[in-house]
Amino acid sequence: MPDLVVVVDTQGDFMRADGALPVPGAEALVAPLHEWLARRTAADTAAVVFTFDTHFADTYPASAEAALFPLHCVRDTPGWHNLIDAGAVAADVPCFRLEKGVFDMWEEADVVLHDTRDPAGTGVPRDAFFAAQRSAGVARAIVVGVAADFCVRSAITGLVARGFAVRVPEALTAGIERGIERVLAEDFPDAPVALDRDEIRASSTTSAWS
Ligand SMILES: [Zn+2]
Repeated sequence: MPDLVVVVDTQGDFMRADGALPVPGAEALVAPLHEWLARRTAADTAAVVFTFDTHFADTYPASAEAALFPLHCVRDTPGWHNLIDAGAVAADVPCFRLEKGVFDMWEEADVVLHDTRDPAGTGVPRDAFFAAQRSAGVARAIVVGVAADFCVRSAITGLVARGFAVRVPEALTAGIERGIERVLAEDFPDAPVALDRDEIRASSTTSAWS
């Protein structure tokens, strides 16, 4: 059975060293993430979901996040855009965009996934989408992106709560205060969540992106 892939917040403001809220080391993930996603096929991947942290300059100051972080990921600005080209995903692998107004992709009730290849489509409610994946037999999610100790951590929590086992390739994520190994050991000691140290290593010497 293919896996579900969740690519968390690979946006300019988090990924670029000069972004509004840079995650240390994230810029170096762009090429391997592209390469890894481009290798996924319909046989191993049920769907790819790109999450987008999404804010608006006029409403951000009143948000809870504003007390902790400077304004970032303002919709349609360079800092909001995904540095991973969704076009890298094989054409027969379903591909979605999920915009969220808070770090936790599960917190807001009204989140909708949009088909990246059908901009005019109405979208699918988040919980219905993930429930349908489970009903179709998809049992595992692979989570990549940033930040390991914030939005990636939240993504894992919700996936586990919805019945998915989770795998996190160590080389395809980066944290702010804690790396993924610590996050999994400290926050998910008994959950069906595994760290994958070997993913991408096999092809690292033949990168077309480096
Ligand atoms: Zn944010």
